[in-house]
Parts: sequence; C-alpha cells; structure tokens
Amino acid sequence: MTSRATPFHCPYCSDEDLRPHGEKHGEWECRSCMRAFRLGYIGMLNPSQISSSQISSSQNSSSPH
Ligand SMILES: [Zn+2]
Repeated sequence: MTSRATPFHCPYCSDEDLRPHGEKHGEWECRSCMRAFRLGYIGMLNPSQISSSQISSSQNSSSPH
C-alpha cells in the first residue's frame, strides 16, 4: 500500500474524517462535509522562485504605501 499523498485534514472543512474514495489512488472523501476530492502531484518547487517571492513580499510589507 503506497500512500504517497495522504491528507490529514479536509481542505474544505478541516475535518479529519477522511477515507479513500473509490479505487483510484489519490482520491479521498470527507465524511464530515461529504465532499470528494483528488490529490495530485503537480511538480517540484523552484527554490529560486520561492526565495525571490519571499524577498519581494517582505520588501512590499516593510515599505509604506
Ligand atoms: Zn470536509
């Protein structure tokens, strides 16, 4: 059983009552809000993009408008 992406909280109601939905891997259902959703791997993050965005956001927040 390979569970690479296991959600611990429902992204919609933040409940923890999540169960696998159907037989497809990566699909989950929340028994609290009765929603079914799918987790998907999009790709790796680009570290340079993260650092640059953090720097720009801190600069924007520190500078008075
Ligand atoms: Zn939910």
